[in-house]
Amino acid sequence: MENMGETEGLRTNSTLICAPIMADTVDQMLVHMNSAKSSGADLVEIRFDTLKGSSGTHEDIKTLIESCPLPTLFTYRPTWEGGQYDGDEQSRLAALKLAMELGADHIDVELQAVDEFKNLTRGDKPTKCKLIVSSHNYQNTPSLEDLESLVARIQSTGADIVKIATMAVDITDVARIFHVTAHSQVPIISMAMGERGLISRLLSPKFGGYLTFATLGRGKESAPGQPTIRDLLGVFNFRQIAPDTKVYGIIGKPVGHSKSPMLYNKAFRSIGFNGVYVHLLVDNVKNFLETYSSTDYAGFSCTIPHKEAVVECCDEVDPVAKSIGAVNCVIRRQDDGKLYGCNTDYVGAITAIEDGLRASGVQDGSNGSPLAGRLFVVIGAGGAGKALAYGAKAKGARIVIANRTYERARELAEIIGGKALSLADLNTYNPEDGMILANTTSIGMQPNIDETPVSKEALKSYALVFDAVCTPKITRLLREAGECGALIVTGVEMFIGQAYEQYEKFTGLPGKHLRSYLGRLWQSIDRLGYSWKMGQHGRSSFQDPSYLMLYTETEGFKAAREQGSDHFNYCLCIICIFGFLMVKIDCCHMLFFCKIVLGIK
Ligand code: NAP
Repeated sequence: MENMGETEGLRTNSTLICAPIMADTVDQMLVHMNSAKSSGADLVEIRFDTLKGSSGTHEDIKTLIESCPLPTLFTYRPTWEGGQYDGDEQSRLAALKLAMELGADHIDVELQAVDEFKNLTRGDKPTKCKLIVSSHNYQNTPSLEDLESLVARIQSTGADIVKIATMAVDITDVARIFHVTAHSQVPIISMAMGERGLISRLLSPKFGGYLTFATLGRGKESAPGQPTIRDLLGVFNFRQIAPDTKVYGIIGKPVGHSKSPMLYNKAFRSIGFNGVYVHLLVDNVKNFLETYSSTDYAGFSCTIPHKEAVVECCDEVDPVAKSIGAVNCVIRRQDDGKLYGCNTDYVGAITAIEDGLRASGVQDGSNGSPLAGRLFVVIGAGGAGKALAYGAKAKGARIVIANRTYERARELAEIIGGKALSLADLNTYNPEDGMILANTTSIGMQPNIDETPVSKEALKSYALVFDAVCTPKITRLLREAGECGALIVTGVEMFIGQAYEQYEKFTGLPGKHLRSYLGRLWQSIDRLGYSWKMGQHGRSSFQDPSYLMLYTETEGFKAAREQGSDHFNYCLCIICIFGFLMVKIDCCHMLFFCKIVLGIK
């Protein structure tokens, strides 16, 4: 595999990507160092404390530093600072001194140990070596005042580079990390750990961070919340993030599974749009929007469970979104910083359902929609449920709402002029044939893929079944509906429809760029959907065709495609063969095999 760094595009910032290297043996570390280089990292952190049975020998340190293909950061983290070394302090400090003398480009010394270290070295340090003085807080992120005095204390030790790592208890904690980063007088490495702190790592170049840590793969983190190098370069366009880059993102909880960052960042990059789209794990949407209130935070998609609460946070709300009572897209106006909320959910879903009906020969009613006069059963009364109900009502359908909390179903049905059901009632509800069913709950979503909101028997009364769940694309509900002879419309179609709308709103540009990208994406999904259908009667555990779709969008896959290497062609043959054998082999195994063939770790 060639250096994937070559595919990372023009670099517009100086923030480095540092791969933590953790392994039991020196030989394993050397292998990981080479992988770090080919993945596009700028330097590696040698986590010497992770070596098993090493006593910090001169030879090990020399080998690691001299054989490393990238600049080095040498760390020997003790257990009292979250590391794995539990030996005596003098040997540890002596090893750090040795690493410095043997040519490490950076050494990391904990704030608590820096005085002792300086006594040992008598202040001598090769000019090449930069001293990082670090502080780790695994409990929380202190107040801004406390963070500022911590940075000042570290700076006063004579550190060349300040490092502070805190724990993000809430995403708003990261704003304080950004503040101290942007105002630091010396180079600074700063991050808030954990999933809620992810943006501190992704947006580090925007605030002038010295480096960000990123891993060689999932499960290889040296601290919670580190992204992979592949995602940093391939999904988040890390090299292109600059101080004036606008920030977009998806607000939700949970949110890590969302594929929106991949979609928008690809589109942004293809047109050179100066924006980055990130995952935002938000607990309180009001606090989030009040904290990140500058016009740099330019637009947000909004998903579970915040779509309704966010309505109150907007300065202006589109009338349709107001009547739905849910906003899934928030734009911060660049002239006055005001928040404008709208709802793009129903457009994609309703259009896809109409298209499906027309394609099966259903004629448009007098109002121009095949939904006119049809009985439209919505499962769920949350944001997506309301959006679908209002959208279908506007097309002339008769609405029935079924929800786990019956009271919510009744309230929505009353407002919209429809009928309410409990979820249990659905299994015996069959007043007429040719009905439409739309699931707008998360039932059947990964990891609960065996769940379904309604029995297979009851699905026989429906002409078309839609499921808002995107992962997996074909849920149990859709699979059983298909087996009963109903048309099926997937959540992916809804997702793509609303993404198109949001892209135009975020960028102010026509969606044609996104359209061409989505076109390709759609084709892969359809192809994979077909493969899945071939496998569905066998013993396939193929769960989510989108895994492969996402894999084909990775830099590794594209690099191989561009080179047209033998390995790649070989891999393609194997994908085809496996596609036909889908009955026997699931997606994860297929992916694993392809990775081996392509030599990707
Ligand atoms: P929401 O506002 O939080 O509403 C969730 C709804 O699901 C509520 O009606 C809730 O019932 C019901 N629900 C949740 N868990 C349930 C369970 N275990 N059993 C029965 N009912 C359950 O969320 P939302 O924004 O409407 O999103 C709902 C779903 O649509 C999610 O799966 C989301 O991923 C999907 N979605 C997809 C797209 C797309 O583009 N494909 C767009 C938007 C949403 P209660 O009232 O009883 O709590």
